[in-house]
Amino acid sequence: MRGVGAALAEKLLRIGVSQVQDLLFVLPLRYEDRTRVESIGALIPGTRAVVEGEVQLTEVTFRRRRQMLCRISDGSGFLTLRFFYFSAAQQNGLQRGTRIRCFGEIRRGPFGLEIVHPEYRRVAAEPAPLEETLTPIYSTTEGLPQGRLRALIGQVLDELDTTAIRDWIPAKVVSSLGLPPLQDALGYVHRPPREAEIEVLAAGFHPAQRRLAFEELLAHHLSLKLIKHEAKAEPATVLIDGEGLADRFIESLPFPLTSAQRRALRDVDADLSLNRPMVRLIQGDVGCGKTVVAAAAAARAAGSGLQVALMAPTELLAEQHHRNFKAWFAPLGLDVALVSGSVPARTRKSALELIASGEVRIAVGTHALFQEGMDFKSLALVIVDEQHRFGVQQRMRLQEKGQKDGRFPHQLIMTATPIPRTLAMTAYADLDISVIDELPPGRTPIKTVVIPEEKRAAVVARIVGLCKEGRQAYWVCPLIEESEELRSQAAEETAASLAEALPGVHVGIVHGRMKPAEKDAAMLAFKNGKIQLLVATTVIEVGVDVPNATLMVIENAERMGLAQLHQLRGRVGRGSEASTCVLLYRSPLSQLARERLKAIRETNDGFEIARKDLELRGPGELLGTRQTGLAQLRVADLVRDADLLPHVHETAELLLASYPDNIAALAMRWVGTAERYGRVG
Ligand code: ADP
Ligand code: MG
Repeated sequence: MRGVGAALAEKLLRIGVSQVQDLLFVLPLRYEDRTRVESIGALIPGTRAVVEGEVQLTEVTFRRRRQMLCRISDGSGFLTLRFFYFSAAQQNGLQRGTRIRCFGEIRRGPFGLEIVHPEYRRVAAEPAPLEETLTPIYSTTEGLPQGRLRALIGQVLDELDTTAIRDWIPAKVVSSLGLPPLQDALGYVHRPPREAEIEVLAAGFHPAQRRLAFEELLAHHLSLKLIKHEAKAEPATVLIDGEGLADRFIESLPFPLTSAQRRALRDVDADLSLNRPMVRLIQGDVGCGKTVVAAAAAARAAGSGLQVALMAPTELLAEQHHRNFKAWFAPLGLDVALVSGSVPARTRKSALELIASGEVRIAVGTHALFQEGMDFKSLALVIVDEQHRFGVQQRMRLQEKGQKDGRFPHQLIMTATPIPRTLAMTAYADLDISVIDELPPGRTPIKTVVIPEEKRAAVVARIVGLCKEGRQAYWVCPLIEESEELRSQAAEETAASLAEALPGVHVGIVHGRMKPAEKDAAMLAFKNGKIQLLVATTVIEVGVDVPNATLMVIENAERMGLAQLHQLRGRVGRGSEASTCVLLYRSPLSQLARERLKAIRETNDGFEIARKDLELRGPGELLGTRQTGLAQLRVADLVRDADLLPHVHETAELLLASYPDNIAALAMRWVGTAERYGRVG
């Protein structure tokens, strides 16, 4: 391209531009209206405007800082331009009588209205032509000024034969959605006409923007589908439960599986009977009983004589799963090894040996399961619990690591982050999904109450009665962001003051700074009822299961996100007894906090809460930023454009069936050569 040397090319690469047409896919963040000149007398502070006038006076002053003030007038009033950085040449160029046109945000200053560091240029006395289109503002990078980037994009628009930009989406799809063709959409978003409604553009509702959003969502969705396709192209072992362990396990349970659990298990069984790797996500609200489904899958793999690894996000959870699995599998004659940082070196060494020799078929642990020194003899199934801490790439890496003699392990991923179906289909298109949409019977819904901090004493008093009835409670300490250290310290202080206020109640504590063995001991004591009130930091957020705990108190609930509150609340209400969740808050509440507390009080339904969370915070928070490249969308917005998702899915099927050659190009255009492409590339 004319005017683009090596240095500039390198900067462009930083914003994802490697070929000329990539520049057109650098999309504006917002727009400014520089198509009209405002008269100074009519300016409104807080707006951005183009103003034209004659310089009355330019002077350099020292009011706190050296600065240049330039006063202009257009006959309707005066405006001050304030510069903190300026050259002598600039000062010379702004002599009395010079006509300039400037642009910037109008503010109130000490001498009336002013603009700090306006963009400006000199103009001739007769009216100079104004911008004919709204001015796009791009996200740029250091060393690549806004104006330069805008000029480059303009150059491409003027000079590139736009037919060179292939539209990879069939025209009939686009027109049936009432959206413009790609070339038109690109032309419009970079140069919206003067009469375009800037509010509509700011909201992202213009059909040209929707057209691009649709394409972007489609590209991401397809790239995830490609990942799944590739993953499923690898060979895997058919798991035949010759020893009938899965059935024996299910029969040994003190309860029947819910029909949703059975459905999920049927999906899993079908996957495991194929010679291609399973990549399945089990999505289900807290307490729906995902662990049992995972255990049945593990039993099946073990029953086929091969090995299973169950990976949990924290040591606490790994230990809990280990305890459960040991209790379930000992009667079936199966050993379960624990591999986590908390295991003493010697025990760990022997566990590793037993896993390497294949003597132990079931290994439970943290990510330590897949670190150096781990060697499975015949790993056939990897189960990942609480997937929301886990991204696409980590999943792919895990599959690679589990690979042995060219065979890849089956993968089962469990998440308690319920997200709406269409969103799940988009964000998790690299996975098959089973939903457990039913809680085990006999659960009494959790009652949630919101109480101001001032009434804390009454809440504390309630714990005494509860413990007398043989029940237990959690007390979750404030969410202090600074450090685990501070969080742990705060938890210790809270535990001490609660112990003092509650003589006769056994108060225990778990926090992130405790040694794993101490944490384990505390959790076990709570599970066995030796601890009645467990004070904790948010480490207990996921997965911990103590059915006898029926009260959860959360301090500073106003500072927590909806999904997090829902996960925490899910620690109670796991038995048949009625449970209560008390949300303590400190005034004053922000509007957002008020809405969050209202939402969590009004519903127990995780899917409903997820919907609300999406609305309040957007998908980045709910899905976690690393999870799905979807958090870094350029034009699309998963909440605003949710109505497009069903069409995205349909169109993806159409492209896969009838236009397979378009897919890679489309994915490259929007997703780029990102690392996530891994093996796909
Ligand atoms: P989560 O889906 O949150 O991981 P868990 O697997 O920890 O849920 O299960 C929550 C509780 O429900 C556990 O105590 C478990 O034993 C129990 N449970 C699971 N399935 C059933 C069922 N079908 N009937 C009754 N209780 C069940
Ligand atoms: Mg769980």
